[in-house]
Order: sequence, then structure tokens, then C-alpha cells
Amino acid sequence: MEYRKLGKSGLWVSALSLGSWLTFGKQVNEEVAETLMQTAYESGVNFFDNAEIYSRGQSELVMGRILKKMNWDRSTYLVSSKVFWGGDKPNQTGLMRKHIIEACEGALRRFQLDYLDMFFCHRYDQRTPIEETVRAMETLIQQGKILYWGTSEWNGAEIMEANMHARLLNMTPPAMEQPHYNMFTRNAVELDYLRPYHYGMGTTIWSPLASGLLSGKYNEGKVPANSRLAMEGLEWLRDSVLLEDRLDKVRQLSALALEIGVTMPQLAIAWCLKNPNVSTVILGASNVSQLKENLNSLSVLPLLTEEIITNIEAILQNKPTRTWYV
Ligand code: NDP
Repeated sequence: MEYRKLGKSGLWVSALSLGSWLTFGKQVNEEVAETLMQTAYESGVNFFDNAEIYSRGQSELVMGRILKKMNWDRSTYLVSSKVFWGGDKPNQTGLMRKHIIEACEGALRRFQLDYLDMFFCHRYDQRTPIEETVRAMETLIQQGKILYWGTSEWNGAEIMEANMHARLLNMTPPAMEQPHYNMFTRNAVELDYLRPYHYGMGTTIWSPLASGLLSGKYNEGKVPANSRLAMEGLEWLRDSVLLEDRLDKVRQLSALALEIGVTMPQLAIAWCLKNPNVSTVILGASNVSQLKENLNSLSVLPLLTEEIITNIEAILQNKPTRTWYV
């Protein structure tokens, strides 16, 4: 396993980590979840990602029970949660002090842990003053309930707003952002975050396989019954992911992967790892063979020569570019 610094913070995070969205507490049973965490940990993964909204708290409950059972040394792993969507009543959703404090305490109870290593603001909240959010995060840090706080799916200006307020208040700025990043979703990570990177921001990127599209399993235009895009209630995801022009590109990428002797998921994950602003790629897996295949992506990294990257860009045709120069 390779370990990378979380931006300019002191924290080392494994280049590959494991997430639980749609799997823990939903698609996979607890036995499978345990095998996934154990396999990941034994391969050197030190970061497990979660959120209050994942299966409405079930995902944290499952992960917490597994961590308790495994009894790993607490200093050898990192756990996150995310605050935003806590419920439908006023003050159950958003980044107001009340919900931030209650969400953190709720996550700690469900995990059966004393502190979270990372705590993310799952979305930007336009209706709460940023100063209130920054102060609430600082309170949790001072109480020892969280170690690092960050954002998820905020734009560069929003992240800088939080960063500047924290600095003005002599408080802790956000250390990391959790953005969507893969071969098809590139703008934020490759362009919009250049300013926050100057201020030391790290990234824990999500959906490296675009929910499985970049595994190549949908190349024939069929949706396997046991796959994420066949899950009930996820029609919105299937419709936003299974686009014909993207499928066409994945077919070409799959041929390229074959040529260099790697699998399509490994090529897609290694491509994310190639970006030095990516601190960790959060993997998703619904079974252990997928996870093992994906964990091998690190060994594919040296194969991504300049020539191969150029070939990939020629297929993707979506490299974010500036229309002006500085
Ligand atoms: P991916 O895009 O990598 O999708 C993972 C899914 O793809 C798996 O569950 C599996 O689904 C399929 N898959 C994975 N590997 C393979 C393989 N080798 N062969 C075939 N199919 C494969 O990542 P996720 O979307 O799961 O995101 C990863 C993590 O990021 C989440 O668990 C979560 O922690 C975080 N996240 C954060 C968000 C945020 O807003 N901050 C939003 C979304 C995710 P299946 O077998 O069912 O088809």
C-alpha cells in the first residue's frame, strides 16, 4: 500500500480507502461487510468512509460493530462521517451548529467510538452563516470529538470562504474535500480547486468507477440483475450514468486496458491515483473479489506512461482547460 499526506496536513492516508455508500446496511449483509473491511485493512487500507445519511445510520452501525469485533489498534485506522442530511424536520438537515454537534454525537454513538478522524460537511449550506459552521467544527475539535474537518462537493470559492473565515477567527481551516472524481467527472478536481490546493487542501475522491460504469460491466448495454444500477430506487442513478456516449468511451478504454494487460476497473482507478492532488481514492465494492481486483490498481500506476495517458485523453476528449492564461 502507498500512503499519501492528506494535503498539507500531517495525516497519512492510504492511497486506496474503502467506502460504504449503498453497500453497508443495504446491498451487502454484515458478513460481507466484515470481509470487505478485513480484506482492505489487511491490504494496508487505513481509511473507512461513512456518513450519517448512508442507509439512514445503518451503515455507521454496521461499520461500528465490525470495528469493535476486529479490535484493531485505534491508532492504525481512520474513520469518517459526514453531516448534512439528518432528517426532515427543521434543524435536522444543514450545517447549523445544532445539527453539526448532534450529527457528530449521533455518529460517535452509532460507531461506538470516542472520536472521528475526519468529519465532512456533506454539501454546502447556503442558509447557514459559514462562521457558524466553522465555529461548530472548531468546538468539536477542541472537545476531541473530531480530528480533521472538511467539505464534500463544495466549489472552490465556497471552500475558500470557509478557509478564510477560519483563519480570520484563528480557528482550524478545512483540511480536505471529498469530491466526485473519475474519468468522466473532472472539472472540480482538475480546475476549480487550484486555489484551495495552495492552502493545503487534500482530497478523498468518490465514485472512481462512476458507480460501476468504468468497470466495463455495462459495455454490452445490459444491466446485470445483481449490480448497483439494477437496484430499486436508483433509477435516477442508472439514468445519469448509463449514457450511450460514455458507454462508447468505456468500450474503447476497455480495449486499451486489455492491450496493456490490466482490467478496466484497475485502469480507471489507477488513472485517478495518477493525479497528485488525489490523497486517497475511496473504493466501493459489493463483494470481495471486486475489492481485491481494485486494490491491485496501485501496481498498474507505473504502466500509465505519458503515451498511455495521451491515448486515454484521446478517447475521453474531456480534459478541463482554461479559456485564459495566467
Ligand atoms: P465506485 O464508482 O467505484 O462504484 C462502486 C461500485 O461499482 C461497487 O459497489 C460495485 O457495484 C461496482 N464495482 C466496483 N468494483 C468493481 C469491479 N472490479 N468489477 C465490477 N464492478 C465493480 O464507487 P462508489 O460510488 O461506491 O463510491 C465510493 C465511496 O465514495 C462510497 O462508498 C462513499 O464512501 C463515497 N461517496 C461519497 C459521496 C459524497 O457525496 N461525498 C457520494 C458517493 C460516494 P455493483 O457490484 O453493485 O454493481
